[in-house]
Amino acid sequence: SKKVDVLGIEFDHTTKKETIHTLEKRIMKNKKTFIVTANPEIVMHAQRDPQYKKTLQSADYIIPDGIGVIMGAKLLKNPLPERIPGFDLMKDLLHLANKESLRVFFLGAREEVLNKAIDNVKRDYPGIQVAGCHHGFFEENDLEVVSMVKESSPDMVFVALGFPRQERWIHNNYHLFQKGIFMGVGGSFDVLSG
Ligand code: UDP
Repeated sequence: SKKVDVLGIEFDHTTKKETIHTLEKRIMKNKKTFIVTANPEIVMHAQRDPQYKKTLQSADYIIPDGIGVIMGAKLLKNPLPERIPGFDLMKDLLHLANKESLRVFFLGAREEVLNKAIDNVKRDYPGIQVAGCHHGFFEENDLEVVSMVKESSPDMVFVALGFPRQERWIHNNYHLFQKGIFMGVGGSFDVLSG
């Protein structure tokens, strides 16, 4: 799809509806996908950390999360169609997972928050198969955590470690997976647990 460059980050010129449609098609084809929802903090962090910028550039899709990104693109005379909040995109993916009985892994946040979030997911999306979960306080290159995620053969992996850790974790382990949608979701489990 068409890309829009904002400070060296190539955003996809797309809407939330289009994005979900694309992701649904990729899941049905078992096509592995790394999706980044980048807010202004993420874009600014990438300016200071070239390694992180490369990590972001390795994603299949970069979606504008935050009005600052939309405004930046507009100022640069290369507007994006709409803001796509990461939390909303995650909810739409949960909806899809519910409809299609997909396997979802939840990685990140504090243990109590995670358990509460999963209770709420099970209540609100009974069709979802919770493939597994693990709290977010582990060493970044912990192999047991990766194996656990991999062995659960998830269709979707939500990684709530905060940036830049969540995108780094996905980037570093992505090659180990055959399929799955991988997305960093920041503080979303905290919201889901409420
Ligand atoms: N978190 C984690 N492991 C860490 C640091 C943070 O699992 O080592 C979790 C934290 O508990 C929270 C989430 O990451 O649920 C997002 O944190 P924050 O809101 O600070 O990140 P942002 O939304 O700004 O990316």
